[in-house]
Amino acid sequence: MTRKKLVVQKYGGSSLSSTDQISNIAEKIISKTKQGYMVVVVVSAMGDSTDNLISLASQVNSNANSITREMDILLSTGELVSSTLMTLSLIAKNKKAISLSGVQAGIMTDSVHGSARISDININRIQEELNKDSIVVVAGFQGLNNLGDVTTLGRGGSDTTAVALAVALNAERCEIYTDVEGIYTTDPRITKKARKLDEISFEEMLEMASLGAKMNPRSIELGLVYNMPVYVASSFSIEQGTLIHRSSNMEIRKAVTGIAVDKNVAKITVKGVMDQPGIAAELLKPLSDEGISIDVIVQNTSSDGTTDFTYTVSESNLERAVSLMGSLDGINYKNIESGIDLAKLSIVGTGMENSPGYASKMFSVLSSLNVNIDMITTSEIRITTIINKNDIEKSVVALHDAFELEAP
Ligand code: ASP
Ligand code: MG
Repeated sequence: MTRKKLVVQKYGGSSLSSTDQISNIAEKIISKTKQGYMVVVVVSAMGDSTDNLISLASQVNSNANSITREMDILLSTGELVSSTLMTLSLIAKNKKAISLSGVQAGIMTDSVHGSARISDININRIQEELNKDSIVVVAGFQGLNNLGDVTTLGRGGSDTTAVALAVALNAERCEIYTDVEGIYTTDPRITKKARKLDEISFEEMLEMASLGAKMNPRSIELGLVYNMPVYVASSFSIEQGTLIHRSSNMEIRKAVTGIAVDKNVAKITVKGVMDQPGIAAELLKPLSDEGISIDVIVQNTSSDGTTDFTYTVSESNLERAVSLMGSLDGINYKNIESGIDLAKLSIVGTGMENSPGYASKMFSVLSSLNVNIDMITTSEIRITTIINKNDIEKSVVALHDAFELEAP
C-alpha cells in the first residue's frame, strides 16, 4: 500500500463563528479525506471569542494584560472550544477524529507569554493518531514552554501553528481557509480592477502581507525558510485561491505583481542633528528599547555638518515616539517635527529585480496625478513611497492601470 499524502488545513475564527459553520467546515474536511488525503486540521477560536476572553479578563482585573501567564491559559481555551466542537462534528458524521491541544500536539515554545515562538514540535502523538486513520484537529495559537506552562503565539498565531505543523509533518502543503478568496493584486476595496492571483512568491507575499487575506507574516516566513507551499482560499466557496510558493523565474511574466498600501503611517523628523558616527544608533535606541518598530528611514546628506533624520512609525506609536525623542539626552538637535495623515504605497514584484525603469515609471505616474512623494525607499523587489493618505485611492487606481495588473 502506498502511503497517503498529508495536508494541513487551517480554518480561521470567522469561518467558525457558529455551530452551523463548524458543521459545514467538517464536511469540507471530510471531502478532502475522500480525495485520499490524511488531514491535520488547525483551528482558531470561534468568531470573536478571543476578544471576548480578553474583555472578560479586564472586567475582573484592569491589569490583566500584564499578567501574561494567566492570560495565555485563558486565551488558549478559545481554540480548545473550536477544536473539540469540530472533532465532535466530524465524529457525528461518522469520521474518526481526535482533538489535541497545542500541548498534546507536542508544540514546544520559548517562554515569551503572549508572543511565544515555536522551538520544536514532537510529532509522535499526531503521527500515532494519523496511523489510526483519524483526522487530527489541533488547537491553534498555543504551545508549552519548558517550565510546563501554556503559551500563546500572539494574535493571529494559528496560521503559524498550521505552517509549522505542515513543516514538521512533511505535508504536501498547508491550506489556509479564511473569509477572502485569496491574495489580490491590490486591495479590492480600493479598485474593482483588483485581480485575484493564482500564485505569488513568499518574498512578494511578505511585502504584501497587508493585502486581501491578512496573512500572519510569521507564517509566510516559515513557509519561505522551509519551502512549504501555502494555499490561501475562502472557507465559503469552491473558487480557486492563491498559492504562495517558491518563485521560479520561468514563471515570471510580469515584473510588478501587486500594489501594497498601509494607511497606518506617521513620521518624525529630528532636525539639525550632528552628522557624525553613532547619531542614528542613539536616536533609534530608545525606540527599540520600548518595542516601537520603525519602518522607512531617510537621512539627508549634510552641507553644514548637521543633517535631518526622518523615520516612520505606526500612527498609534507616534505620541510615544515623539516623547522619547524629547527626552534624548546627549544629542543636540534643532527641533522635532511630526507628520500625520500619511500612507505607504509600494509596488511589489520579484521581476523588478535588476530591471531598471520601474521606479521612474511609478514616480511619473504619481507626478501626472500631482501627488507629492514625501519619502522613498526600495528593496530588491519593492519600491515604496510615503505619500498623503488622501492621495492613496487615485494613485492605486492609476498604478494598477499603468502596470497592467488587471490582465492575467
Ligand atoms: N484566536 C487567536 C486570535 O484571535 C489566534 C488566531 O486567530 O489565529 O488572535
Ligand atoms: Mg482569530
